[in-house]
Amino acid sequence: MAQGEVDTKKCGSALISGLATDLKPRYHFAALEKTYYERLPYRNHIVLQETTQHATRFIALASVGNPEKKKYLYAFSIVPMKLMDAAELVKQPPDVTENPYRKSGKEASMGKPIPAPEEESACQFFFDLNEKQGRKRSSTGRDSKSSPHPKQPRKPPQPPGPCWFCLASPEVEKHLVVNIGTHCYLALAKGGLSDDHVLILPIGHYQSVVELSAEVVEEVEKYKVTLRRFFKSRGKRCVLFERNYKSHHLQLQVIPVPLSRCTTDDIKDAFVTQAEQQQIELLEIPEHSDIKQIAQPGAAYFYVELDTGEKLFHRIKKNFPLQFGREVLASEAILNIPDKSDWRQCQVSKEEEEMLAHRFRKDFEPFDFTLDD
Ligand SMILES: [Zn+2]
Repeated sequence: MAQGEVDTKKCGSALISGLATDLKPRYHFAALEKTYYERLPYRNHIVLQETTQHATRFIALASVGNPEKKKYLYAFSIVPMKLMDAAELVKQPPDVTENPYRKSGKEASMGKPIPAPEEESACQFFFDLNEKQGRKRSSTGRDSKSSPHPKQPRKPPQPPGPCWFCLASPEVEKHLVVNIGTHCYLALAKGGLSDDHVLILPIGHYQSVVELSAEVVEEVEKYKVTLRRFFKSRGKRCVLFERNYKSHHLQLQVIPVPLSRCTTDDIKDAFVTQAEQQQIELLEIPEHSDIKQIAQPGAAYFYVELDTGEKLFHRIKKNFPLQFGREVLASEAILNIPDKSDWRQCQVSKEEEEMLAHRFRKDFEPFDFTLDD
């Protein structure tokens, strides 16, 4: 949903905000704005200060049969609270955010009224996942500026339309998300080449690495280093690639290749040979060099990054085979799973995806730098 669609300065109700704060519903449905929006779940407790509580999910639905065909029906099954296992009930979803209604612990406990809707702060629950995070965090006694690891970015760019990869977007397949940092997150690839094929994605809407700000690049690099260590511990090396062509949100593909299958040079040769066969000119870029120095913002390109940090770069003019990176990796020379070169052939059920994501989260935990404090 585009940010301009609902004027968050003019909507929202202080009374309902107060009610939601006190009642802590597991689901909060709203329909007044006649549009569909699903916010990331939020906490109902202050971490390390209060007992863990269940999270709340806020869902706004459009009018029934609206001409724009916006979602107006929401199907889900809910187990009544009293029938749930206490631990299961308070389990925090991986994408949980701070409570958008909580202005400051002090004010709340003094019963100070929540500001009227025309004030900016009462409208946060619609889109403002990030802007006030720092300030809210300070209410828990931790100043965002002095905190070395604020968990949310200040204000990630918003997409012009629906996006499958913006973390705050309702289109995101949240069950595939396996780790969330400050500026980036990790998700399992849908129909991945292997069960541990992941994507490094910026939380905000950036089209390519060329557009990333320095702090986001820094975290991308941190994820790369961490994933290399993680996969190495499992006897694999990882190959990364990015295609900035016919895509809107940066997806850095990370594909682990068992060490026993081939060497880094074999991988490099496979890319060079198969590129030649398709008249794709691959340029060798030395380790530690920046794509920004080679590609102009907006220019289409493809590159593959080997586990040595070395990159093979191609400037796309037109008609680049969209599946190229995937096809080379699936080929006999590397993973030897040619029937998996088309991701649509690799799709599994949502249950299986959930199981794989759960397993990855658990395996990755010892390497998770976002947990360091
Ligand atoms: Zn996006």
